[in-house]
Amino acid sequence: MVVSLDNSRPRPVDVARPRRVSILGSTGSVGRSTIDLVARDLQSFEVVALTANRNAAGLAEQARHLRCAFAAIADPAEYQTLRDALADTDTEVAAGREAVLEAAARSADWTMAAIVGARGLAPTLEAVRQGRIVAFANKECLVSAGPLMLEQVQRHNATLLPVDSEHNAIFQVFDSAQRDSIERLILTASGGPFRTAHPDAMAQVTPEQAVAHPTWNMGAKISVDSATMMNKGLEIIEASLLFDMPDSRIDVLVHPQSVIHSLVAHSDGSVLAQLGTPDMRTPIAYCLAWPKRIATPTERLDLAAVGRLDFEPPDMERFPALRLAREALRRGESAPTVLNAANEEAVHAFLERRIGFLDIVRVVEQTLERVSSRPLNSLTDVSDIDEAARHMAREILAGASGPAKTSAD
Ligand code: NDP
Repeated sequence: MVVSLDNSRPRPVDVARPRRVSILGSTGSVGRSTIDLVARDLQSFEVVALTANRNAAGLAEQARHLRCAFAAIADPAEYQTLRDALADTDTEVAAGREAVLEAAARSADWTMAAIVGARGLAPTLEAVRQGRIVAFANKECLVSAGPLMLEQVQRHNATLLPVDSEHNAIFQVFDSAQRDSIERLILTASGGPFRTAHPDAMAQVTPEQAVAHPTWNMGAKISVDSATMMNKGLEIIEASLLFDMPDSRIDVLVHPQSVIHSLVAHSDGSVLAQLGTPDMRTPIAYCLAWPKRIATPTERLDLAAVGRLDFEPPDMERFPALRLAREALRRGESAPTVLNAANEEAVHAFLERRIGFLDIVRVVEQTLERVSSRPLNSLTDVSDIDEAARHMAREILAGASGPAKTSAD
C-alpha cells in the first residue's frame, strides 16, 4: 500500500509554546542550515536533541550554543571528546547507534532527518514512530525502504514534509484536491559540474572536482550523486513514492541556473512551479514553520538580474544513472534498495580514490544485475537486501566476483 503526501490537511500546531525540535545529522550541510534558522529565533524553537557521526567538536559547539538537552554521537570512539567538551553544561551526552536512536525517540514536535545514507533509516523510523512532524532530507532511506516506510508514516500518524528542494517545490504547488488533473511532475536538475564534459574528461574526474557543485553547497555524498545524476535518479524514485506517481509521469528537465525547483503540469495546460535562489534554507524553513511560513535571510530572487533561464533534456548517454534508477523503480520489489546500497558503496570507494568517476555507475549496474530482486515484506527484508547488495558491490569493487571495469583494470 502506498500513501502519498497530502498537504491539504495540516495538523493542528500548538503555537502557545516554542516548537521542540530534534536534528538528526546536525553537523552536516542540511543540519547546519537547519541550525542557522533555528538559532535566529530561539523564542520559537527549542532544541531537544542533536546527533552526529564523528564530528564531536562540531556537535558540542552546536549543543552549547543552543542549550540542547541531549547530544548523541554515533561513533563510540568520540564519546570522551564530546563529554569533555560539554562537561560544564547541562547537556546530556551519549554515544553509539542506540544513542542516536534515543535522540530520535526523545519527545519533540518536529524532527529534521538529515543523516546521510541508508544508515539514517532506523533513526528516521524512530522519529516517525513517535507520530511527529518529520522534515525529511534523507532520500536514501525512502528509496531503500520504499512503501514500507510510508506505511509506518501512516500507521503512526506522522507527518512527512519533503526537504529536498525539488520535492519541497512540488509539495508547495501540489493541489491534493485536484490530483486527478495532475498529468506530470517535472523535476528540475542543475546537471551538475559535468553537464557538458567530454566522456574522456569524465573518466579522469577527481573527488575534489566531483564535489564542486556549480549551484548548490552540499555534503560530499550528495554532491557526487549530483555529478553522476544518480541524485536525480534517487529523486525520481522519491517523487514516485511521495506523490504516488508512476515513473512514466515524472520527467527530468535540466535547468543549470537552479532557479525553478520543480513543476507540476495539469491537464488544462497549466504548469505550476516554485522558484527561489538555490539555498536549502528556503525548503528547510518551509518545513520548520509548516503549515505557516517564516522569514529567512536567503538572497531574494531577482529574475531581471538572472536575465535568462535555460532548459534542456538530460543526456541519457552521459548520465546512465538516470536509466538505472528508472529501471529499478519499474522493476520494483528490492531493486531500489539494491540500487541505493550499491551506489553508497561505490560513491564511498570513489571518494577514497579506489575507483574512477565513471566506475560508480558501472558498479551499481553490475550489482543490480547480480543481486536478484525479491519482494520486501518487512523492514528486516530491507536490511537483509541492503547488506547483500553492499556485499556484492564490495566484491565487484575488489574485483573478486568478475571483471568489474574499474579504473584500475
Ligand atoms: P552531510 O554529509 O553534510 O552530513 C551528514 C550528516 O549525517 C552529518 O551530521 C554526519 O555526521 C551524519 N552521519 C553520517 N553518517 C552517519 C552515521 N553512520 N550515523 C549517524 N550519523 C551519521 O550530508 P548532507 O547534509 O549534504 O545530506 C544529508 C541528507 O540530506 C542526505 O540524505 C542528502 O541526500 C539529503 N539532502 C541534502 C541536501 C543538501 O543540500 N546538502 C539537499 C537535499 C537532500 P558527521 O558530521 O559527524 O560526519
